[in-house]
Amino acid sequence: MSTKKHIKNGTLVTPEGIFSGDVLTDGSTIAAVGEVGPESTAEVIDATGCYVLPGGVDVHTHLNLKLGDRQVSDGFYAGCVAAAWGGTTTIIDHPEAGPAGCNLHHQPEYYRGLLEKESVIDYGIHGVFQHVDEAILAEIPSLVQQGYSSAKVYMTYGNMLVPGEVQRVLEAMKNAGGLAAFHAEDDAEISRLRAEFAENGHLAPIYHAKSRPDYTEADSIKIIADLAAKTGATVYIVHLSTGKGLDVIREAKKSGVKIIAETCPQYLLLDDSCYEKTDGLKYIMAPPLREKGNGEALWAGLADGSISVVATDHCSFSYADKKKFWQGDFRKAPGGSPSVETRLPLLFSEGVLKGRLSLQRFVDLVSANPAKIMGIYPQKGVLQPGADADLIIWDPAAEKIISPESLHQLCDYGPFDGMNVKGWPRKTMLRGTIIVENDRFIGKKGSGQFLQRAPFKDETLCSSDHHGGKR
Ligand SMILES: [Zn+2]
Repeated sequence: MSTKKHIKNGTLVTPEGIFSGDVLTDGSTIAAVGEVGPESTAEVIDATGCYVLPGGVDVHTHLNLKLGDRQVSDGFYAGCVAAAWGGTTTIIDHPEAGPAGCNLHHQPEYYRGLLEKESVIDYGIHGVFQHVDEAILAEIPSLVQQGYSSAKVYMTYGNMLVPGEVQRVLEAMKNAGGLAAFHAEDDAEISRLRAEFAENGHLAPIYHAKSRPDYTEADSIKIIADLAAKTGATVYIVHLSTGKGLDVIREAKKSGVKIIAETCPQYLLLDDSCYEKTDGLKYIMAPPLREKGNGEALWAGLADGSISVVATDHCSFSYADKKKFWQGDFRKAPGGSPSVETRLPLLFSEGVLKGRLSLQRFVDLVSANPAKIMGIYPQKGVLQPGADADLIIWDPAAEKIISPESLHQLCDYGPFDGMNVKGWPRKTMLRGTIIVENDRFIGKKGSGQFLQRAPFKDETLCSSDHHGGKR
Protein backbone atom coordinates (compact mmCIF):
# COMPACT_ATOMS: atom_id res chain seq x y z
CA MET A 1 0.00 0.00 0.00
CA SER A 2 1.38 3.38 -0.98
CA THR A 3 1.97 6.11 1.54
CA LYS A 4 -0.41 9.06 1.69
CA LYS A 5 0.66 11.92 -0.54
CA HIS A 6 -0.26 15.57 -0.27
CA ILE A 7 0.32 17.36 -3.56
CA LYS A 8 0.44 21.06 -2.78
CA ASN A 9 -0.01 24.28 -4.72
CA GLY A 10 -0.66 22.82 -8.14
CA THR A 11 -3.15 23.97 -10.75
CA LEU A 12 -5.74 21.20 -10.90
CA VAL A 13 -7.59 20.30 -14.08
CA THR A 14 -10.94 18.77 -13.09
CA PRO A 15 -14.33 18.34 -14.78
CA GLU A 16 -15.58 21.22 -12.59
CA GLY A 17 -12.91 23.55 -13.85
CA ILE A 18 -9.30 24.57 -13.46
CA PHE A 19 -8.22 25.99 -10.10
CA SER A 20 -5.30 26.07 -7.73
CA GLY A 21 -5.49 23.60 -4.93
CA ASP A 22 -4.17 20.40 -3.45
CA VAL A 23 -4.70 16.70 -4.01
CA LEU A 24 -4.53 14.12 -1.25
CA THR A 25 -4.01 10.46 -2.06
CA ASP A 26 -4.62 7.65 0.38
CA GLY A 27 -3.36 4.24 -0.61
CA SER A 28 -4.13 3.70 -4.25
CA THR A 29 -6.89 6.28 -4.67
CA ILE A 30 -7.55 10.01 -4.54
CA ALA A 31 -8.93 11.04 -1.14
CA ALA A 32 -9.50 14.76 -1.67
CA VAL A 33 -9.24 17.38 -4.40
CA GLY A 34 -9.11 21.14 -3.85
CA GLU A 35 -9.23 21.97 -0.16
CA VAL A 36 -7.10 19.58 1.86
CA GLY A 37 -6.76 20.08 5.61
CA PRO A 38 -3.44 19.71 7.46
CA GLU A 39 -2.11 16.22 6.80
CA SER A 40 0.75 15.51 9.15
CA THR A 41 1.17 11.91 8.02
CA ALA A 42 1.32 12.51 4.29
CA GLU A 43 4.41 12.86 2.14
CA VAL A 44 4.36 16.36 0.67
CA ILE A 45 4.88 16.91 -3.04
CA ASP A 46 5.28 20.51 -4.15
CA ALA A 47 3.55 21.19 -7.47
CA THR A 48 4.11 24.96 -7.57
CA GLY A 49 4.12 26.16 -11.16
CA CYS A 50 2.78 22.82 -12.41
CA TYR A 51 -0.53 21.40 -13.50
CA VAL A 52 -1.87 18.32 -11.77
CA LEU A 53 -3.56 16.13 -14.37
CA PRO A 54 -5.14 12.69 -14.42
CA GLY A 55 -2.78 10.11 -15.95
CA GLY A 56 -2.99 9.70 -19.71
CA VAL A 57 -5.02 6.87 -21.26
CA ASP A 58 -3.71 5.63 -24.62
CA VAL A 59 -6.34 3.34 -26.11
CA HIS A 60 -4.44 2.48 -29.27
CA THR A 61 -1.02 0.89 -28.82
CA HIS A 62 0.76 -2.09 -30.35
CA LEU A 63 3.54 -2.47 -27.82
CA ASN A 64 4.29 -6.09 -28.57
CA LEU A 65 3.25 -6.61 -32.18
CA LYS A 66 4.63 -9.57 -34.11
CA LEU A 67 3.90 -10.15 -37.78
CA GLY A 68 5.70 -13.28 -38.93
CA ASP A 69 9.43 -12.58 -38.66
CA ARG A 70 8.85 -8.91 -37.95
CA GLN A 71 8.59 -7.63 -34.42
CA VAL A 72 8.29 -4.19 -32.87
CA SER A 73 11.38 -3.09 -31.01
CA ASP A 74 10.05 -2.23 -27.57
CA GLY A 75 7.81 -5.00 -26.19
CA PHE A 76 5.50 -4.56 -23.20
CA TYR A 77 8.01 -3.67 -20.50
CA ALA A 78 9.94 -0.99 -22.38
CA GLY A 79 6.78 0.25 -24.07
CA CYS A 80 4.98 0.73 -20.75
CA VAL A 81 8.04 2.42 -19.22
CA ALA A 82 8.12 4.86 -22.15
CA ALA A 83 4.40 5.51 -21.73
CA ALA A 84 4.94 6.35 -18.04
CA TRP A 85 7.72 8.80 -18.92
CA GLY A 86 5.27 10.59 -21.18
CA GLY A 87 2.51 10.73 -18.54
CA THR A 88 0.44 7.79 -19.75
CA THR A 89 -0.62 5.48 -16.94
CA THR A 90 -3.11 3.28 -18.80
CA ILE A 91 -2.91 1.59 -22.18
CA ILE A 92 -5.44 -0.46 -24.06
CA ASP A 93 -3.42 -2.53 -26.46
CA HIS A 94 -4.47 -3.92 -29.83
CA PRO A 95 -3.11 -7.45 -30.39
CA GLU A 96 -2.11 -8.67 -33.82
CA ALA A 97 -4.23 -11.43 -35.33
CA GLY A 98 -3.74 -14.82 -33.70
CA PRO A 99 -3.26 -18.23 -35.34
CA ALA A 100 -5.64 -18.74 -38.27
CA GLY A 101 -9.08 -19.79 -37.09
CA CYS A 102 -8.40 -19.07 -33.41
CA ASN A 103 -11.30 -18.07 -31.20
CA LEU A 104 -12.10 -14.52 -30.07
CA HIS A 105 -10.69 -14.98 -26.57
CA HIS A 106 -7.35 -16.27 -27.81
CA GLN A 107 -5.41 -13.05 -28.38
CA PRO A 108 -6.69 -10.96 -25.45
CA GLU A 109 -5.99 -13.82 -23.04
CA TYR A 110 -2.53 -14.41 -24.50
CA TYR A 111 -1.74 -10.70 -24.22
CA ARG A 112 -3.05 -10.56 -20.67
CA GLY A 113 -0.58 -13.26 -19.68
CA LEU A 114 2.31 -11.27 -21.16
CA LEU A 115 1.20 -7.97 -19.63
CA GLU A 116 0.80 -9.51 -16.16
CA LYS A 117 4.54 -10.19 -16.14
CA GLU A 118 5.77 -7.12 -17.99
CA SER A 119 3.54 -4.12 -17.43
CA VAL A 120 4.42 -1.18 -15.20
CA ILE A 121 1.18 0.71 -15.88
CA ASP A 122 -2.45 -0.44 -15.92
CA TYR A 123 -3.81 -2.05 -19.03
CA GLY A 124 -6.76 -3.33 -20.95
CA ILE A 125 -6.76 -5.32 -24.16
CA HIS A 126 -8.98 -5.07 -27.22
CA GLY A 127 -10.23 -8.19 -28.96
CA VAL A 128 -9.74 -8.63 -32.70
CA PHE A 129 -12.15 -10.13 -35.22
CA GLN A 130 -10.28 -12.31 -37.70
CA HIS A 131 -13.25 -14.13 -39.14
CA VAL A 132 -16.96 -14.31 -38.40
CA ASP A 133 -19.06 -17.39 -37.83
CA GLU A 134 -21.66 -18.57 -35.32
CA ALA A 135 -19.02 -19.65 -32.81
CA ILE A 136 -17.23 -16.28 -32.88
CA LEU A 137 -20.50 -14.37 -32.49
CA ALA A 138 -21.48 -16.63 -29.58
CA GLU A 139 -18.25 -15.74 -27.77
CA ILE A 140 -18.93 -12.00 -27.72
CA PRO A 141 -21.02 -11.84 -24.51
CA SER A 142 -18.41 -13.64 -22.42
CA LEU A 143 -15.59 -11.59 -23.95
CA VAL A 144 -17.36 -8.41 -22.85
CA GLN A 145 -18.18 -9.81 -19.40
CA GLN A 146 -14.53 -10.68 -18.88
CA GLY A 147 -13.58 -7.03 -19.29
CA TYR A 148 -12.59 -7.00 -22.96
CA SER A 149 -15.45 -4.73 -23.96
CA SER A 150 -14.09 -3.59 -27.33
CA ALA A 151 -12.72 -5.36 -30.38
CA LYS A 152 -11.09 -4.37 -33.64
CA VAL A 153 -12.50 -4.85 -37.11
CA TYR A 154 -10.24 -4.39 -40.15
CA MET A 155 -11.74 -3.24 -43.43
CA THR A 156 -8.45 -4.02 -45.17
CA TYR A 157 -5.59 -6.57 -44.81
CA GLY A 158 -5.81 -10.36 -44.77
CA ASN A 159 -8.21 -10.61 -41.86
CA MET A 160 -10.62 -7.94 -43.12
CA LEU A 161 -14.36 -8.35 -42.76
CA VAL A 162 -16.89 -7.65 -45.52
CA PRO A 163 -20.01 -5.55 -44.89
CA GLY A 164 -22.32 -8.54 -44.29
CA GLU A 165 -19.95 -9.80 -41.61
CA VAL A 166 -19.60 -6.34 -40.10
CA GLN A 167 -23.35 -6.13 -39.77
CA ARG A 168 -23.50 -9.39 -37.83
CA VAL A 169 -20.66 -8.25 -35.58
CA LEU A 170 -22.37 -4.93 -34.88
CA GLU A 171 -25.66 -6.59 -33.99
CA ALA A 172 -23.94 -8.99 -31.61
CA MET A 173 -21.70 -6.30 -30.06
CA LYS A 174 -24.67 -4.02 -29.51
CA ASN A 175 -26.58 -6.75 -27.69
CA ALA A 176 -23.60 -7.66 -25.52
CA GLY A 177 -22.42 -4.13 -24.65
CA GLY A 178 -19.33 -4.36 -26.83
CA LEU A 179 -17.81 -1.58 -28.93
CA ALA A 180 -16.40 -2.36 -32.37
CA ALA A 181 -13.32 -0.31 -33.34
CA PHE A 182 -12.69 0.06 -37.06
CA HIS A 183 -9.57 0.38 -39.16
CA ALA A 184 -11.34 2.12 -42.04
CA GLU A 185 -9.63 1.80 -45.42
CA ASP A 186 -11.16 0.64 -48.70
CA ASP A 187 -9.26 -2.56 -49.41
CA ALA A 188 -10.35 -3.08 -53.01
CA GLU A 189 -9.33 0.38 -54.18
CA ILE A 190 -6.02 0.26 -52.31
CA SER A 191 -5.19 -3.15 -53.77
CA ARG A 192 -5.98 -1.89 -57.25
CA LEU A 193 -3.74 1.17 -56.87
CA ARG A 194 -0.87 -0.78 -55.32
CA ALA A 195 -0.89 -3.22 -58.20
CA GLU A 196 -1.03 -0.39 -60.72
CA PHE A 197 1.89 1.49 -59.16
CA ALA A 198 3.93 -1.69 -58.89
CA GLU A 199 3.34 -2.51 -62.56
CA ASN A 200 4.72 0.89 -63.49
CA GLY A 201 7.71 0.53 -61.20
CA HIS A 202 6.48 3.16 -58.75
CA LEU A 203 7.77 1.60 -55.55
CA ALA A 204 9.29 4.53 -53.63
CA PRO A 205 7.83 5.39 -50.18
CA ILE A 206 5.65 8.22 -51.57
CA TYR A 207 3.63 5.61 -53.46
CA HIS A 208 2.62 4.14 -50.15
CA ALA A 209 0.65 7.35 -49.60
CA LYS A 210 -0.49 7.67 -53.21
CA SER A 211 -1.91 4.14 -53.17
CA ARG A 212 -4.09 4.95 -50.16
CA PRO A 213 -5.72 8.26 -51.17
CA ASP A 214 -7.95 10.15 -48.77
CA TYR A 215 -11.17 8.95 -50.35
CA THR A 216 -10.26 5.32 -49.50
CA GLU A 217 -10.63 6.29 -45.83
CA ALA A 218 -13.76 8.38 -46.33
CA ASP A 219 -15.50 5.70 -48.45
CA SER A 220 -14.79 3.02 -45.87
CA ILE A 221 -16.08 5.20 -43.02
CA LYS A 222 -19.25 5.80 -45.05
CA ILE A 223 -19.87 2.04 -45.28
CA ILE A 224 -19.26 1.63 -41.54
CA ALA A 225 -21.52 4.60 -40.68
CA ASP A 226 -24.31 3.15 -42.84
CA LEU A 227 -24.01 -0.18 -41.03
CA ALA A 228 -24.07 1.64 -37.69
CA ALA A 229 -27.26 3.40 -38.79
CA LYS A 230 -28.81 0.13 -39.96
CA THR A 231 -28.03 -1.79 -36.76
CA GLY A 232 -28.29 1.03 -34.21
CA ALA A 233 -24.86 0.03 -32.88
CA THR A 234 -22.14 2.50 -31.95
CA VAL A 235 -18.95 2.41 -33.98
CA TYR A 236 -15.50 3.72 -33.10
CA ILE A 237 -13.14 4.82 -35.88
CA VAL A 238 -9.45 4.42 -35.00
CA HIS A 239 -6.70 6.67 -36.35
CA LEU A 240 -8.79 9.06 -38.44
CA SER A 241 -6.36 10.76 -40.80
CA THR A 242 -8.28 12.86 -43.34
CA GLY A 243 -10.51 15.90 -43.57
CA LYS A 244 -12.68 13.92 -46.00
CA GLY A 245 -13.19 11.16 -43.44
CA LEU A 246 -13.99 13.77 -40.80
CA ASP A 247 -16.67 15.26 -43.06
CA VAL A 248 -18.33 11.84 -43.33
CA ILE A 249 -18.24 11.51 -39.54
CA ARG A 250 -19.76 14.97 -39.03
CA GLU A 251 -22.56 14.20 -41.49
CA ALA A 252 -23.24 10.84 -39.85
CA LYS A 253 -23.38 12.38 -36.36
CA LYS A 254 -25.78 15.02 -37.66
CA SER A 255 -28.16 12.34 -38.87
CA GLY A 256 -28.02 10.56 -35.52
CA VAL A 257 -25.49 7.82 -36.27
CA LYS A 258 -23.56 6.79 -33.16
CA ILE A 259 -20.00 7.21 -34.32
CA ILE A 260 -16.91 8.11 -32.29
CA ALA A 261 -13.59 9.16 -33.77
CA GLU A 262 -9.98 8.89 -32.66
CA THR A 263 -6.94 10.50 -34.28
CA CYS A 264 -3.20 10.38 -33.58
CA PRO A 265 -0.40 12.99 -33.32
CA GLN A 266 1.21 11.97 -36.61
CA TYR A 267 -1.94 12.89 -38.56
CA LEU A 268 -2.18 16.22 -36.77
CA LEU A 269 1.44 17.24 -37.13
CA LEU A 270 3.06 15.56 -40.14
CA ASP A 271 2.20 15.40 -43.82
CA ASP A 272 3.06 13.33 -46.87
CA SER A 273 6.07 15.47 -47.78
CA CYS A 274 7.88 13.22 -45.27
CA TYR A 275 7.82 10.39 -47.85
CA GLU A 276 9.95 12.47 -50.21
CA LYS A 277 12.76 12.77 -47.68
CA THR A 278 15.79 10.47 -47.93
CA ASP A 279 14.51 8.64 -44.85
CA GLY A 280 10.92 8.60 -46.13
CA LEU A 281 10.71 4.92 -45.31
CA LYS A 282 10.41 5.80 -41.62
CA TYR A 283 6.92 7.18 -42.23
CA ILE A 284 5.41 4.05 -43.75
CA MET A 285 2.27 3.48 -41.71
CA ALA A 286 -1.39 2.89 -42.48
CA PRO A 287 -3.26 5.07 -42.92
CA PRO A 288 -0.43 7.09 -44.44
CA LEU A 289 0.52 10.68 -43.69
CA ARG A 290 -1.73 12.95 -45.72
CA GLU A 291 -1.48 16.05 -47.85
CA LYS A 292 -0.97 19.30 -46.01
CA GLY A 293 -4.28 20.73 -44.79
CA ASN A 294 -5.68 17.50 -43.39
CA GLY A 295 -3.88 18.14 -40.10
CA GLU A 296 -5.57 21.51 -39.60
CA ALA A 297 -8.94 19.94 -40.41
CA LEU A 298 -8.34 17.32 -37.72
CA TRP A 299 -7.32 19.97 -35.16
CA ALA A 300 -10.63 21.70 -35.86
CA GLY A 301 -12.40 18.37 -35.34
CA LEU A 302 -10.71 17.97 -31.95
CA ALA A 303 -11.71 21.47 -30.90
CA ASP A 304 -15.35 21.24 -31.98
CA GLY A 305 -16.00 17.79 -30.51
CA SER A 306 -16.26 15.80 -33.76
CA ILE A 307 -13.16 13.84 -32.74
CA SER A 308 -13.19 12.62 -29.15
CA VAL A 309 -9.86 10.85 -28.60
CA VAL A 310 -6.16 11.28 -29.33
CA ALA A 311 -4.34 7.93 -29.16
CA THR A 312 -1.04 6.94 -30.79
CA ASP A 313 -1.20 3.70 -32.80
CA HIS A 314 2.30 3.27 -31.36
CA CYS A 315 3.98 0.51 -33.37
CA SER A 316 7.75 0.63 -33.15
CA PHE A 317 9.10 -1.19 -36.16
CA SER A 318 12.66 0.15 -36.20
CA TYR A 319 14.21 2.09 -39.06
CA ALA A 320 16.82 -0.67 -39.25
CA ASP A 321 14.08 -3.24 -39.86
CA LYS A 322 12.25 -1.03 -42.32
CA LYS A 323 15.49 -0.75 -44.32
CA LYS A 324 16.17 -4.45 -44.01
CA PHE A 325 12.75 -5.63 -45.17
CA TRP A 326 11.68 -3.12 -47.77
CA GLN A 327 14.02 -4.17 -50.63
CA GLY A 328 13.16 -1.13 -52.71
CA ASP A 329 9.41 -1.82 -52.58
CA PHE A 330 7.18 0.24 -50.27
CA ARG A 331 4.78 -2.71 -50.01
CA LYS A 332 7.36 -4.79 -48.15
CA ALA A 333 8.30 -2.29 -45.42
CA PRO A 334 6.81 -2.98 -41.98
CA GLY A 335 4.31 -0.21 -41.22
CA GLY A 336 4.05 1.77 -38.03
CA SER A 337 5.89 4.32 -35.92
CA PRO A 338 6.49 4.96 -32.21
CA SER A 339 4.87 7.76 -30.19
CA VAL A 340 3.57 6.39 -26.90
CA GLU A 341 5.95 8.64 -24.95
CA THR A 342 5.29 11.87 -26.84
CA ARG A 343 1.49 11.92 -27.13
CA LEU A 344 0.74 14.24 -24.21
CA PRO A 345 3.74 16.55 -24.69
CA LEU A 346 3.00 16.96 -28.42
CA LEU A 347 -0.68 17.66 -27.90
CA PHE A 348 0.07 20.09 -25.08
CA SER A 349 2.85 21.89 -26.94
CA GLU A 350 1.17 22.06 -30.35
CA GLY A 351 -2.42 22.13 -29.11
CA VAL A 352 -2.71 24.00 -25.81
CA LEU A 353 0.30 26.32 -26.11
CA LYS A 354 -0.56 27.22 -29.70
CA GLY A 355 -4.16 28.04 -28.85
CA ARG A 356 -5.78 25.18 -30.79
CA LEU A 357 -7.13 23.46 -27.68
CA SER A 358 -8.08 24.53 -24.18
CA LEU A 359 -6.35 22.82 -21.30
CA GLN A 360 -9.63 21.18 -20.36
CA ARG A 361 -10.11 19.87 -23.88
CA PHE A 362 -6.56 18.50 -23.86
CA VAL A 363 -7.30 16.46 -20.74
CA ASP A 364 -10.58 15.23 -22.24
CA LEU A 365 -8.83 14.05 -25.40
CA VAL A 366 -5.88 12.27 -23.83
CA SER A 367 -7.46 10.96 -20.65
CA ALA A 368 -11.14 11.47 -19.74
CA ASN A 369 -12.80 10.63 -23.08
CA PRO A 370 -10.80 7.48 -23.83
CA ALA A 371 -11.47 6.30 -20.26
CA LYS A 372 -15.22 6.90 -20.67
CA ILE A 373 -15.46 5.22 -24.05
CA MET A 374 -13.42 2.20 -23.04
CA GLY A 375 -15.32 1.53 -19.79
CA ILE A 376 -12.80 2.57 -17.12
CA TYR A 377 -14.24 5.93 -16.00
CA PRO A 378 -14.20 7.31 -13.28
CA GLN A 379 -11.61 4.82 -12.04
CA LYS A 380 -9.31 6.40 -14.64
CA GLY A 381 -9.27 9.73 -16.46
CA VAL A 382 -10.35 12.15 -13.74
CA LEU A 383 -9.19 13.99 -10.63
CA GLN A 384 -11.92 13.22 -8.15
CA PRO A 385 -12.18 11.45 -4.79
CA GLY A 386 -12.41 7.69 -5.23
CA ALA A 387 -10.63 7.60 -8.59
CA ASP A 388 -7.31 5.80 -8.88
CA ALA A 389 -4.47 8.12 -7.89
CA ASP A 390 -2.94 8.08 -11.38
CA LEU A 391 -1.54 11.59 -11.51
CA ILE A 392 0.89 13.63 -13.50
CA ILE A 393 2.72 16.62 -12.12
CA TRP A 394 2.96 18.46 -15.41
CA ASP A 395 5.63 21.08 -15.90
CA PRO A 396 4.38 23.42 -18.64
CA ALA A 397 7.78 25.08 -18.96
CA ALA A 398 9.92 21.95 -19.37
CA GLU A 399 11.40 21.78 -22.87
CA LYS A 400 12.97 18.93 -24.73
CA ILE A 401 14.04 18.28 -28.30
CA ILE A 402 12.68 14.90 -29.34
CA SER A 403 15.25 12.31 -30.37
CA PRO A 404 15.86 8.62 -29.68
CA GLU A 405 18.44 9.73 -27.08
CA SER A 406 16.11 12.11 -25.25
CA LEU A 407 13.29 9.55 -25.07
CA HIS A 408 12.92 6.13 -23.47
CA GLN A 409 11.05 4.40 -26.27
CA LEU A 410 13.19 1.53 -27.49
CA CYS A 411 13.33 2.55 -31.10
CA ASP A 412 16.13 3.89 -33.29
CA TYR A 413 14.00 6.76 -34.61
CA GLY A 414 10.74 8.55 -34.04
CA PRO A 415 8.51 10.43 -36.47
CA PHE A 416 8.86 13.64 -34.45
CA ASP A 417 12.65 13.64 -34.11
CA GLY A 418 14.07 17.15 -34.00
CA MET A 419 10.88 18.81 -32.74
CA ASN A 420 11.21 21.13 -29.77
CA VAL A 421 8.36 20.29 -27.42
CA LYS A 422 7.31 22.26 -24.36
CA GLY A 423 5.42 20.67 -21.45
CA TRP A 424 6.54 17.36 -19.93
CA PRO A 425 5.70 15.36 -16.83
CA ARG A 426 7.87 16.08 -13.82
CA LYS A 427 6.43 13.11 -11.93
CA THR A 428 4.11 10.30 -12.92
CA MET A 429 2.11 8.41 -10.31
CA LEU A 430 0.26 5.11 -10.70
CA ARG A 431 -2.35 4.25 -8.05
CA GLY A 432 -0.63 6.43 -5.46
CA THR A 433 2.91 5.21 -6.18
CA ILE A 434 5.42 7.46 -7.92
CA ILE A 435 6.85 5.64 -10.93
CA VAL A 436 8.76 8.48 -12.64
CA GLU A 437 10.55 11.31 -10.81
CA ASN A 438 13.85 13.19 -10.87
CA ASP A 439 14.62 11.82 -14.30
CA ARG A 440 14.41 8.27 -13.05
CA PHE A 441 11.97 5.48 -13.67
CA ILE A 442 11.26 3.72 -10.37
CA GLY A 443 8.22 1.56 -11.16
CA LYS A 444 8.28 -2.22 -10.85
CA LYS A 445 7.97 -4.72 -13.66
CA GLY A 446 4.68 -6.57 -13.36
CA SER A 447 3.06 -3.94 -11.13
CA GLY A 448 0.51 -2.86 -13.75
CA GLN A 449 -3.00 -4.21 -13.25
CA PHE A 450 -5.50 -5.65 -15.68
CA LEU A 451 -8.53 -3.40 -16.05
CA GLN A 452 -11.86 -5.16 -16.00
CA ARG A 453 -13.56 -2.78 -18.41
CA ALA A 454 -17.30 -2.12 -18.16
CA PRO A 455 -19.60 -2.70 -21.14
CA PHE A 456 -19.89 0.23 -23.52
CA LYS A 457 -22.62 2.73 -22.66
CA ASP A 458 -24.62 3.87 -25.63
CA GLU A 459 -24.78 7.56 -24.74
CA THR A 460 -21.00 7.94 -24.47
CA LEU A 461 -19.73 10.79 -26.66
CA CYS A 462 -21.58 9.94 -29.83
CA SER A 463 -22.78 13.37 -30.83
CA SER A 464 -20.28 16.20 -30.38
CA ASP A 465 -18.83 15.58 -26.98
CA HIS A 466 -19.48 17.94 -24.12
CA HIS A 467 -16.33 20.08 -24.03
CA GLY A 468 -16.21 20.46 -27.78
CA GLY A 469 -17.11 23.65 -29.55
CA LYS A 470 -17.58 25.96 -26.59
CA ARG A 471 -14.07 26.25 -25.24
ZN1 LIG B 1 -3.23 0.26 -34.91
